[in-house]
Amino acid sequence: MSTALIIYGVGSLASVGVFVKVKKRLMLSKAKHPSLRGHSRMSQRFARLVPYYEFDETNIFRADGAPAAIQQSRATGFARLQTLFAERCPQSIASTEALKPAISDMQFTAAYRVPYPFSRFVRERLKVGGVLQAASGVKVTDLDGNEFYDLTGSYGVNVFGTDFYRDCIEAAVQAARELGPVLGAYHPVVANNVARLKDISGLDEVSFHMSGTEAVMQAVRLARYHTKRAKLVRFCGAYHGWWGDVQPGVGNPQRMHDTYTLKDMDDDSLRVLRSRKDIACVLINPLQGLHPNANAPGDSTLMASDRGGHYDKQAYTAWLKQVREVCTARGIVLIFDEVFMGFRLAWGGAQEYFGVKADMVTYGKTLGGGLPVGVVCGRADLMKRFRAERPADICFARGTFNAHPYVMTAMNEFLTRAGTEQMRATTYNGLDARWDGRAAQLNERLRQANVPVEVANLASIFTVKYTKPCRYNWMLQYYLRAQGLALSWVGTGRLIFSHNYTDEDFEAVVQRFVAAATSMKEDGFWWARDGATNKDIKRGVLREMLAAWRGNSPV
Ligand code: PMP
Repeated sequence: MSTALIIYGVGSLASVGVFVKVKKRLMLSKAKHPSLRGHSRMSQRFARLVPYYEFDETNIFRADGAPAAIQQSRATGFARLQTLFAERCPQSIASTEALKPAISDMQFTAAYRVPYPFSRFVRERLKVGGVLQAASGVKVTDLDGNEFYDLTGSYGVNVFGTDFYRDCIEAAVQAARELGPVLGAYHPVVANNVARLKDISGLDEVSFHMSGTEAVMQAVRLARYHTKRAKLVRFCGAYHGWWGDVQPGVGNPQRMHDTYTLKDMDDDSLRVLRSRKDIACVLINPLQGLHPNANAPGDSTLMASDRGGHYDKQAYTAWLKQVREVCTARGIVLIFDEVFMGFRLAWGGAQEYFGVKADMVTYGKTLGGGLPVGVVCGRADLMKRFRAERPADICFARGTFNAHPYVMTAMNEFLTRAGTEQMRATTYNGLDARWDGRAAQLNERLRQANVPVEVANLASIFTVKYTKPCRYNWMLQYYLRAQGLALSWVGTGRLIFSHNYTDEDFEAVVQRFVAAATSMKEDGFWWARDGATNKDIKRGVLREMLAAWRGNSPV
């Protein structure tokens, strides 16, 4: 063969290689969600550029150009809430304010309850107590003795009601007393937990960790170890804890190189999974079924009324089945992250509820029976942390407090009590119908009250949506609080009901919810200029940012 021919051959091969590389790169770009959320690096850069500006007493109630009468009505409503909170919750507020300077998390959550241009004005006046003294049934009690219906769900831990977990912990303390907090060796109750978890997950082995974040870290590390591939796939908007690799965008100062964030429920993403050889695992958080491709919906990002939320079980099930198929075909480890949704949808979790089998499942939150925990269940071949034939090539995982005796006994109480035939039947039989019916009941009453609010739900997880363009929707969280409904710091983006809510409890929430929305409407917060759209509002916000850049006042 002549040299020229060899050079030509090598050249052609190289250009084929380049072509394939470029094609794969384009395919990957196409599988990214067009929003900033879908572009981690760009969103980090953008976040660094967003300038601070704020509304003050002269313009806080006219950010949307409302006429003077509406501004006055808003100001009066706001002042009424301010007085109400101050008079009703003095001790709760005082102790919260005393803690705030020393607890960074409190400062953060206080600052991010509402969009930042409104935040300072609001948090200095509408002070919210963050200290509670008691909980019972579906209610919590603050330091001043005020009772609130608990819609926070303790970050999702609270599936069965606070009393259930209190009982689990009390029994667990008794059960662990003899051994005490001895670590390293196992409490005998671990055998029962392992047997039950194997049964629930349908998987072979179990590992114990201290939080959901660590469970996810471990599952991904094992997937990388066994597949010898680096990349993890998460779907746009999905939360999997605060480990860097699963949080590659805003919130993480580092650039993550081994994470692909792909569009949820989209064929372009399946094409990427089908064509690439570098993907170790795909993480699924089933909660995304309620808002595919969107971040956890907090009120601090509620600039306009375009919060989505719609759960289509059939469509999401079909999607998960497709992901399962392509993962099987490509040797990609499919991880269901059930830290949040585990035990809420079905005893067998998302695997049972959607009828899709995962290779690994992470659990946490509720499974600890009220104490902190993370768990990975997986196929035996994926859970192995060493290779007999390569003894130095191990996959390390420890954690001082893993399998802590008190956590293990609390988990045992949880699994034993929640796992009875009767408890499973009352919790899971007719679950969708019950909660869809309750969401419909709330929506109907909101419609009757003619307020621009509705809810969407995935079982007992609700999100509040706003049906009329408006910049002040985040005020609803304070009107709800005034009606005795306790929300978490993310506000109306996520209401988490525990399953011990009776129809009467729910009806009480409906009444208070409607009263809150009605009051907010009467105070003029949902006033809108004729023909206003969400797009107009967002354009206006952008104009304010540009003005702030130039050092001008926003309005
Ligand atoms: N995965 C999911 C799906 C979660 O919702 C969470 C917590 N909200 C985590 C992981 C992290 O769990 P933890 O907060 O216990 O670290």
